[in-house]
Amino acid sequence: MRQLIAAGNWKMNLTYQEGLALAEAIHNAQRAEDILVILGTPAIHLAGVSEILKDSKQVKVAAQNCHKEEKGAYTGNISVGMIRSTGADYVILGHSERREYHGETDALIAEKIKLVLSYGLKPIYCCGEKLPVREAGKHIDLVAQQVTEGLFHLSAEDFQKVIIAYEPVWAIGTGVTASPEQAQDMHRCIRTLIADKYGAAIADSTSILYGGSVKPKNAKELFAQPDVDGGLVGGASLKADSFVAIINSF
Ligand code: PEP
Repeated sequence: MRQLIAAGNWKMNLTYQEGLALAEAIHNAQRAEDILVILGTPAIHLAGVSEILKDSKQVKVAAQNCHKEEKGAYTGNISVGMIRSTGADYVILGHSERREYHGETDALIAEKIKLVLSYGLKPIYCCGEKLPVREAGKHIDLVAQQVTEGLFHLSAEDFQKVIIAYEPVWAIGTGVTASPEQAQDMHRCIRTLIADKYGAAIADSTSILYGGSVKPKNAKELFAQPDVDGGLVGGASLKADSFVAIINSF
């Protein structure tokens, strides 16, 4: 049985105080017990949110990015060691906004994934196609390439620590959600690809999240798909009531 997960990506939103209040509200909310909740906070919030959640087995903290080097003259960046020292357990990598605005490639993300794993942290690897790619019918090939280049350098042992998030770029922050069938089709393809590379048992135990305008009103239908193991949620993770409603949609 694979882990069901509701992950939030706060992006560059919420002051420090607002972030702590949101973490506190989610920590104290009535939540389904078997769902792993991950809060992807801005770097500056990591330590404070981790402190609030330090005794929680169900609510964990993620950074939204890290640098590929362990330390050095990289002004404004944060290292994996810094992230780990805050108490965070996860790092979101390869988000489409990082790919688009910071030119991150699969090769660079693959390097970061290796580094994150070597520090005992777990990557949440984002992949997904832009609209013209889907319209050209090339979305499955593109995502297969992202998954192969981003992740398939890992040993089977390391691969099992990875969470995958399929996030069609045309659905992120647009209010346009992939249909449950579109999400299921892609998730099935990703799982088949994993089975071909690492075997059926590992494929069956890999959590694959859907991201792209997940809201309380559509989460249940998406999460009901057999290969959709939860969501990576942007906008709707910024308010406790909407995010808790999503957590309770499985
Ligand atoms: C995201 O930031 O990964 C995301 C899916 O955002 P939204 O839910 O707002 O589309």
